[in-house]
Amino acid sequence: MKVKNIGEFELIKRISKLLPPLGHDVVVGVGDDVAVVELDENYYALLTCDVQIQRVHFDLNFITPYQLGKRAVAVNISDIAAKGGIPLHFLVSLALPSHTEVKWIEELYRGIAEEAAKYNVDVIGGNLSSIGGPLVVDLFLLGKVKKEHLLLRSGAEPGDSVFVTGSLGDAAAGLKILLNKELSKKIPECEKDFLVAKYLSPTPRLEIGQLIAASKKASAMIDLSDGLSSDISRICEESDVGVRIWVDKIPISEEMKKVARLIGVQDWVLALKGGEDYELCFVCSREKSCDLLKKIAQKGISVTEIGEIVHKKRGKVLVLNEKEIPLEDGWEHFKNESGDRGN
Ligand SMILES: [Mg+2]
Repeated sequence: MKVKNIGEFELIKRISKLLPPLGHDVVVGVGDDVAVVELDENYYALLTCDVQIQRVHFDLNFITPYQLGKRAVAVNISDIAAKGGIPLHFLVSLALPSHTEVKWIEELYRGIAEEAAKYNVDVIGGNLSSIGGPLVVDLFLLGKVKKEHLLLRSGAEPGDSVFVTGSLGDAAAGLKILLNKELSKKIPECEKDFLVAKYLSPTPRLEIGQLIAASKKASAMIDLSDGLSSDISRICEESDVGVRIWVDKIPISEEMKKVARLIGVQDWVLALKGGEDYELCFVCSREKSCDLLKKIAQKGISVTEIGEIVHKKRGKVLVLNEKEIPLEDGWEHFKNESGDRGN
């Protein structure tokens, strides 16, 4: 049996069974955006890592080392944002072919340093190694969260509403433009800049994540890294519930709609499966959400109700033209033949 036959989720399940029993200080192990362990009386520590690999996660033909450094920091901070936490310290591991230009590494670190400083996070060490193959940039991030603010994937209950920030599928559309020169020629410059920036320079919703968690109104949260269909499935799995997503409510930008039209894909499919938007998806009862939604809007971030949590036996479905269709997972590592996220 090969890894590609079972996919990422099944592989994680198999690995988890091999690990030693968790210590008493572990609050959450495998299965959420971050691992959570006891820190002190008031705080939990949050631990996360994210690896970026050349030709899997980035292509040096269209991302500069400076942009790559910023992006690697942003996607890690997004996982801390999804738990309502505060990012604190980074470790950076690089595996580099020996012919890599020193200037290239310096530009990568300029991006890492600038983005980390933006969120008041230190870079305190790491590891360097040579490699014969593609470049590997692996970041580990330590954060913390007030114990009463911690928001996991596992608290969603039937009857709760599902919300997302921002618009979905823009990063996927940006990647399509970068990969397809013919498509790129058909999109006006300003629209192209908007979509490409969404892919190359994602903004983690750190302040909004903290606001949602501190409100204590939400029951579950995740950041949208792999696509809404995959990520909402993770909330369902961890909360042991089902979901109905109303397709016509999914927030989609005019710029993304145009790309979807030009490549002959339904825009909502790109929004569900595209991934890498790094928006937040959270679950909250409708009665409790009113005040919270106002506070998010006051920060200038749009938030949209896109569905409802239902009992597990009703499954995970999309509601389209009053018909229910099964919600398929979006991106899943190893099962995608091209190995290129977002395609
Ligand atoms: Mg995540």
